[in-house]
Amino acid sequence: MTLEKNEAEQNASENPAVQWMRLALDAARRAYALGEVPVGAVLVKDGQVVATGYNRPISTHDPSAHAEMAALREGARLLGNYRLPDCELYVTLEPCAMCAGAMLHARLKKVIFGAHDPKTGACGGVVNLFAEPRLNHQTQVEGGVLERECGDLLREFFAERRAANKNAAKNPPDPT
Ligand SMILES: [Zn+2]
Repeated sequence: MTLEKNEAEQNASENPAVQWMRLALDAARRAYALGEVPVGAVLVKDGQVVATGYNRPISTHDPSAHAEMAALREGARLLGNYRLPDCELYVTLEPCAMCAGAMLHARLKKVIFGAHDPKTGACGGVVNLFAEPRLNHQTQVEGGVLERECGDLLREFFAERRAANKNAAKNPPDPT
């Protein structure tokens, strides 16, 4: 047990990808606090954070307000360039087709995601837009970084939401 913990700590200090993913998880928790599906993203250039983003389509009434879009938008604005060929994006959940498309338009160098998404994932979960040789830009992909932590946060969110819905059904508002 102690050994495992030490190993995990060592991995975290040695692997910068794990540290960036922890920042993305912090961003995801901000989405959670707003009642949004907890997904967070961090845009990194030359070992420095450029921008962070978190999922908030409900509160912004914007179907495109995914964590990755927020980080890409803010990062591109701050860098003064719509193309981000020297940047890496860390995101807690496998990107969808919209976000994968935006990354390809931005000519992003690499995307690193946490949990796999068999429902809407566009990095192999459902389709793999990054493995299409006919597209002119190729973004590298790595999945499964802190997969368990990233997935646990989503599972906790949905379990809490199901419990709240059940309670609401059990205790309907008093009609009188
Ligand atoms: Zn997306």
